[in-house]
Amino acid sequence: MNPEATPNLKLRVAQKVEPILRAGHPWLFSDSIRDQSRPGQVGELAIIYDRKDRFLGMGLFDPDGPIRVRMLHTGKPQKVDRAWWQQHLTTALDRRRNLFDAQTTGYRLCNGESDGWPGLVLDRYDTTLVLKIYTTVWLPRLTEVVAIIAEQVPHERLILRLSRNVQDKALPFTEGQILRGAPVLAPVVFLESGIRFEVDAVLGQKTGFYLDQRENRRRVESLASGRRVLNAFSFSGGFSLYAARGGAVSVTDLDISPHALAAANRNFAWNLHQPAIARCRHECVKTDAFDWLNSTATAPRSFDLIILDPPSLARRESERAQAIRAYGRLARSAIEFLAPQGVLVACSCSAHVSAEEFLGAVRTAATQAGRPFTELQTTGHAADHPATFPEANYLKAIYLGF
Ligand code: SAH
Repeated sequence: MNPEATPNLKLRVAQKVEPILRAGHPWLFSDSIRDQSRPGQVGELAIIYDRKDRFLGMGLFDPDGPIRVRMLHTGKPQKVDRAWWQQHLTTALDRRRNLFDAQTTGYRLCNGESDGWPGLVLDRYDTTLVLKIYTTVWLPRLTEVVAIIAEQVPHERLILRLSRNVQDKALPFTEGQILRGAPVLAPVVFLESGIRFEVDAVLGQKTGFYLDQRENRRRVESLASGRRVLNAFSFSGGFSLYAARGGAVSVTDLDISPHALAAANRNFAWNLHQPAIARCRHECVKTDAFDWLNSTATAPRSFDLIILDPPSLARRESERAQAIRAYGRLARSAIEFLAPQGVLVACSCSAHVSAEEFLGAVRTAATQAGRPFTELQTTGHAADHPATFPEANYLKAIYLGF
């Protein structure tokens, strides 16, 4: 398909969404469209007009999704050609220009809507790039997008990852496909703050690593000296390696996935040249962390630093209230394991639960525990994961000292 070959697809939108789009919200929902000049094809450029038929903006059209248009631009009309995409990638790359030194070779180069590339994420793991597509609107342009990335970002390999909703509509593209470079025969290893991590960029969760938690991991390192650490929902041991390097006496990882724990063990092995990491006692427990934290069998154990970083507990809006309660219960159970002077780090990545709701639930749990505590810090998104609209603002964390 050549989206620019046919007359423009024109949409007029309900008055109530005009100010929302003008303010930069990147999603136009199907129920806010008043009329449409013709049926549109997936990924074609839609031109949006306001009620007075003035140009409002433009975006990528999705005939099937509830988000009918992913906005690219509002304001004055612009020509969306190759130079336009090139410029937009340059802007995203420039934003990261001074964020990392050579000790960090894994980070996000492009964070979807918040970088002007709605539903498209580009992560770097050393010389491997991972391009993750969350919406079909990119499929018709994928070859062009990959060529533009290749011009601007040096790399040896580029892997395509597709979210579940895209996977069965993507042919000839496939999930985990190597778009450029050699097949992945050895682990992809990168540096984060000087710690080596391996990443399963073809099959792993997200693009293989939770790059969004880097700043919290750095904070955990600074809190870990001499402490016994519990890392619940550890995944591949991100927080654990930092805690170990920060001087933790021991780290216990809890995860339900044996693959995640095996990766955590390998990540320790990659870093044994660092004396503090080699010294730290590391233990992996394959378990349901909710059960483990509630089990009286584990109750005699105590820890000086506990990290809770569960997967999203509200996948949809209807699960919000239940998720807020679950965050509270989780914090409450974890506090039972905290030794005097202990620190709790509780995180939430549920987009449907606001920062106020999450922080409120954890503070209430801490109050109910009946032990004096102080709030050390709350944190949000890292600079390579900008969040420019409310729905993108998913990550929050709170640090409590007891
Ligand atoms: N803190 C990690 C990311 C955690 S992602 C990091 O910094 O890299 C959430 C993890 O929770 C995943 O590894 C998933 O396997 C695990 N998980 C999901 N449900 C679980 C459960 N009920 N009990 C324990 N682990 C669980």
